[in-house]
Amino acid sequence: MATLAPMTLSEKAVDFIDDASLTSLVEATEPDARQVQDCIAKSLAKQALSVEETAVLLNATAPESVERIFEAARQLKRDVYGNRLVLFAPLYIGNACVNDCAYCAFKRSNPDAIRRTLRPDELRQQVTALENHGHKRLILVFGEHPRYDAEFIAESVRTVYSVREGHGSIRRVNINAAPLDHDGYRTVKAAGIGTYQVFQETYHHETYARVHPEGTRKGDYLHRLDALSRAMEAGIDDVGIGALFGLHDWRFEVLGLVTHALYLQARYGVGPHTISFPRLRPAAGVTLDERYRVSDDAFKRLIAILRLAVPYTGLILTAREDAALRREVMAFGVSQIDAGSRIEIGGYTEAGDAQCMEREQFQLGDIRSLDEVMRELLQDGYIPSFCTACYRLGRTGEHFMEFAIPGFIRRYCTPNALSTLTEFLTDYASAETRAVGEQLIETELAAMPDGTGKRRLQDVLARIRKTDERDLFF
Ligand code: SAM
Ligand code: SF4
Repeated sequence: MATLAPMTLSEKAVDFIDDASLTSLVEATEPDARQVQDCIAKSLAKQALSVEETAVLLNATAPESVERIFEAARQLKRDVYGNRLVLFAPLYIGNACVNDCAYCAFKRSNPDAIRRTLRPDELRQQVTALENHGHKRLILVFGEHPRYDAEFIAESVRTVYSVREGHGSIRRVNINAAPLDHDGYRTVKAAGIGTYQVFQETYHHETYARVHPEGTRKGDYLHRLDALSRAMEAGIDDVGIGALFGLHDWRFEVLGLVTHALYLQARYGVGPHTISFPRLRPAAGVTLDERYRVSDDAFKRLIAILRLAVPYTGLILTAREDAALRREVMAFGVSQIDAGSRIEIGGYTEAGDAQCMEREQFQLGDIRSLDEVMRELLQDGYIPSFCTACYRLGRTGEHFMEFAIPGFIRRYCTPNALSTLTEFLTDYASAETRAVGEQLIETELAAMPDGTGKRRLQDVLARIRKTDERDLFF
């Protein structure tokens, strides 16, 4: 039987999380209005905040300070990301797992979990269904198991890219899987992955040890904390970090995430591409510890503060949250959301509209279709985007950081968002969504200055509408 690869660490791996220091920062007193204003001004100048400055915002609870933070986050989102929002879907490949994470339905001690790994033909069916809904970007999700080694992950990625259904194709495959060693990361990079995500879950050592039993693979805090350093050393410059909110004090976790982001930036010259901030959800076989439950109000604050702390890092909001809350917090700085998501294994073809707790990792809050989510976004004035141009033109890592400056969005991001939106409206949208979308495209075009850029974009949109040409990007 296959065994897990031996554990390795990055060069000079260090545990850069100091619990005592982060705890004392979150226990500091309420800052005065001037301190809050100085931190806000720094992030509006698009500079990353230090851990101490982030703590100032976390400790600001006076209603007027909180409102100022929300408003600054809204403004920064508009300035850096415009009104675009990138859409993706999760695809669960297999839920076999050697770990025993207290919060997850896939943990090995859950006897009720229906264990399953998609066969290649089943995987192709799932991808076909996703393409038929209009998806272009996926994240593949795996339990941690010797079966899901780097070669298996790479093969899954190659299979996904090979599926072509009608005008559909998957153009970017991200990964959320267990940490690998250097060779493993090289193997998955060669398959053409986008972002490799590993969430620390909790940065608080004692809590980490409580929810990840000793003797399990995930029970080794440093091996996990070091996961994306190894990825960087193996040449993956596009990584995603995350914390599972609800295991420990949310303010501590925000400081953990910011510490991690600053560490990667300082050591490898590139910060994380994305930060995820899932909130703990009910799951089969899991008794939730309510002590650190994150209220909706705290959740809004944490998103706004993350936005201000790391202006150029993408923020991912998932369908764990319900539709109304997602709609509200998007404006605080979210850059990516999933839509039309099903997280049961095989869920895009088999489960219908209902959720089946024995087959999924946790319960979703928003199970609307991609078309419905697109329509609401369009009505709210967002441009939903399936753009994958940067990554395919090699504009990733530090290059992406350089490019994410004013002017870049106007030249590349907005045109690419509009061309991928036009593909969706032409090939997959309901009549109602198409009408709202075409109206938004007209408004966006009207706001663009005349010139070659606009003419080239209009030409691309016309070709998509009238011909079979697809995947035209800038
Ligand atoms: N097995 C790999 C791992 O643990 O890193 C990767 C995939 S795991 C299925 C993806 C993520 O789901 C975890 O990192 C965790 O943050 C999240 N998750 C687990 N249980 C959850 C729950 N009950 N509610 C919300 N998110 C959960
Ligand atoms: Fe396994 Fe990941 Fe779930 Fe932990 S979170 S039990 S490692 S699938």
